[in-house]
Amino acid sequence: MNSRPALPVLYMVIPCYNEEDVLPITAPLFREKLESLARQQLIHPDSRILLVNDGSRDRTWEIIRDLSEKDLHFQGISQSRNRGHQNAVLAGLMESRKLCDVTISIDCDGQDDLNAMDEMLKAYHEGSDVVYGVRSSRKTDSLFKRMTAQSFYRFMRRMGAEVVYNHADYRLLSSRVLSAFADFHEVNLFLRGLVPLIGFRSTSVYYERRERLAGESHYPLKRMIGLAFDGITSLSVKPIRMITYTGLIISVISFIGIIWAVVTALMGSAVEGWASIACVVCFMGGIQSMFMGIIGEYIGKIYLETKGRPRYIISEHTSGMPDSPGTDPRP
Ligand code: UDP
Ligand code: MG
Repeated sequence: MNSRPALPVLYMVIPCYNEEDVLPITAPLFREKLESLARQQLIHPDSRILLVNDGSRDRTWEIIRDLSEKDLHFQGISQSRNRGHQNAVLAGLMESRKLCDVTISIDCDGQDDLNAMDEMLKAYHEGSDVVYGVRSSRKTDSLFKRMTAQSFYRFMRRMGAEVVYNHADYRLLSSRVLSAFADFHEVNLFLRGLVPLIGFRSTSVYYERRERLAGESHYPLKRMIGLAFDGITSLSVKPIRMITYTGLIISVISFIGIIWAVVTALMGSAVEGWASIACVVCFMGGIQSMFMGIIGEYIGKIYLETKGRPRYIISEHTSGMPDSPGTDPRP
C-alpha cells in the first residue's frame, strides 16, 4: 500500500480555448470548489487551479492573467499556439505533476459537475490513483449529439480501443500515475484511451452532465469523427487485421467464382457478362482504395511519431508558476 499525504496538494487542470464568454462565469465556481474541498480536509490549502490557454484568439489569456494577479490560487500557462484539447490537457498535467500530489482535469465550460470532485478525492484517499468521471445520463445533450457520442464509444470498442463508456476528460490522476505517463511519448494523443493502459488502481464516479454555461462547443461532428479515427488508429491495429480477413474472404469467394466460371465454360454455357465483370472490378477498386487509406492512416501516424516533435510548447506562464521547461519532457 502506498502512503498518501493526509492533505494532498491538488491541481485542477483546465484547458481553455476561446472561452472569454464562459471563463468569467466558471472561474469563481472552480475557486469555490477548491475552497470547499480544503474545508472538508480533502486537499491541502496550497492547492491550485491551473488554467491552460490553448492559443486562444480572444481575451482568454488576459482573463487568466487577471485572475492570477488577483488570486494566487489561479495559475496559468499559455501554449504558443492552438494545439487542440488533448495537447492542452497534457501540457497542464505534465507541468503540474511535480508541483502536486494529485490532479483533476476538467473542461472550463461548466458542463461537468464540480461536485463529483468530492467523490473523486474520497476515492483517492481510499487508494485509487485513477478516478474516471462518467456521465450518468446525457439528458441535456441534443438527440443528435447523444446518438453520435454513443456510436462513437461503441465503434471505438468494436475497433479494439479500450475506452471507458461515457467518460471524456474529467478525471483524477495521482502524481505517480503522471510520472509513469511521462514515459508515454506518443505524439498521437488520445488521453482517454491511454490512461487505462497506464494501469494502477482505478474507479469511476458518476455525475450528470449539464449544458455549456456559455459559448459554443468546439467539437462538431466532423471533429468527433476525426477524434474517433485518431483514437482507433493510435490504440489498435484491429482495422488492419480486418482488412486481412476481408481480403481472405474475397479471395475465397473469387476462387469459388473462378471454378464456377471454368466449369460453365467447359460445359459450353459460358455466361455473357461484361456488366457483371465491370461491377466486380469497380467494387474491388473501391475496396482496395479504402483499405489503402486505412493502412495509410497508420503510416501517417508512424510518420508523425518518427519526427518526435514536442507535444506542447509553452510561451508564457503567470508569475505563480515556476519557470517551466517550456516544452514537453522527452527522452
Ligand atoms: N479546448 C481546447 N482546445 C481546443 C478545443 C477545445 O483547449 O482546440 C477546450 C475547451 O476550452 C473546453 C474543452 O476543451 O474547455 C472542451 O471543449 P468543448 O466544450 O468545446 O467540447 P464539448 O464539451 O462540446 O465536447
Ligand atoms: Mg464542453
